[in-house]
Amino acid sequence: PLDRQRVVQSCHGTGRQDGRAGMVVLVTGSGGFIGMSAALALRARGDGVLGIDNFNDYYPVSLKRARQAHLESAGVYTAEGDINDADLLRSLFAACRFTHVLHLAAQAGVRYATKNPQSYVHANLAGQVNLLEVIKDQKPMPMVVYASSSSVYGLNKKQPFSEEDRVDQPASLYAATKASGELIAHVYHNIHGLSLTGLRFFTVYGPWARPDMAAYKFAVSIMKGEAIPIFQGPNGTELSRDFTYIDDIVRGVVAALDSAKPSVKGRSPFRLYNLGNTHPHTVSEMVGLLEGYLGRQAIRHYIPMPPTGDVLATFADISAARRDLAYQPQVSLEVGMKRFAEWFFEYYGPAADDGAKLAADWSYKPV
Ligand code: NAD
Repeated sequence: PLDRQRVVQSCHGTGRQDGRAGMVVLVTGSGGFIGMSAALALRARGDGVLGIDNFNDYYPVSLKRARQAHLESAGVYTAEGDINDADLLRSLFAACRFTHVLHLAAQAGVRYATKNPQSYVHANLAGQVNLLEVIKDQKPMPMVVYASSSSVYGLNKKQPFSEEDRVDQPASLYAATKASGELIAHVYHNIHGLSLTGLRFFTVYGPWARPDMAAYKFAVSIMKGEAIPIFQGPNGTELSRDFTYIDDIVRGVVAALDSAKPSVKGRSPFRLYNLGNTHPHTVSEMVGLLEGYLGRQAIRHYIPMPPTGDVLATFADISAARRDLAYQPQVSLEVGMKRFAEWFFEYYGPAADDGAKLAADWSYKPV
């Protein structure tokens, strides 16, 4: 059941210190990695923030609950439920006058999509449409910033990826639903005049990261003494990613919210930006850093890249975000991975050093 009083308190915020009018932001997917981090940053500067998350078990729910507790201690309340639940969304909009919606709830992960296509349709397509339907009925309509992904560039070979590039060659169903999410957003902009900003995130990592992603998965494998599969493309080329540190992403998200313009009759803004780091690294380089910071050697197992939706390389052109959002990534992979490793030890406590105990605590088998 929804605690209406806490919903209202959470939306109220503490007031901005910088003299600006505070925002009231609904953060979907607030139990997630980026959702929690963005919600905390908004709350810290005094904005009103309310979260919503369905706490699904795609990865260990204990981590999502720990993030929820972290938000709770900062004064951010999480409404528990699905973005497909229109009644729940309407009751949240009735309780709070949201000025902005930060839509991050999604079924993420490229490989999981091969065996679980319906969960992507449910969250990324049906869920997004349901949310936008509720938003379009609000007066005034809140401005929307939503998550897209570097995966929309798919099998595109041109580097770095620019927002003008074609996105019609997705390599996974996940990528297809993210590209469709942008198209769906465009429809709500064109027909209903919603103010929409899409952000294409590039491989985000850092404290509270997602356990199905490389940095976290490999940290667990290193501590457990298990081999790490490293994918290789044709001619032994290695997978590389434009790994982007969470604080840089959060700065970009907040700048996108701050610079969003309300829709005016007949003309409303539709924007799309890459948020990456512009310094791609190979997966081996990332593993090398982790070994150093975790103090254990990794067992590397090079295997040919399976046809499960990964692309060989990602690399962001961020000139548009730099120009419009003053976005400038500040954290190198060396510094960011060190902070991730420190968080990893803190989160797992003594269990982190004990492979057997970590294995018991961490029965989740990453895809
Ligand atoms: P995450 O899985 O940690 O967070 C998503 C949250 O949404 C989860 O807590 C989940 O429980 C919730 N959720 C899922 N379906 C829901 C539903 N139907 N109703 C309510 N809540 C639901 O993922 P993240 O890494 O924080 O990603 C946030 C967004 O950024 C996603 O849209 C993702 O596709 C996108 N993205 C992330 C990355 C990355 O590297 N982390 C890269 C590109 C894009």
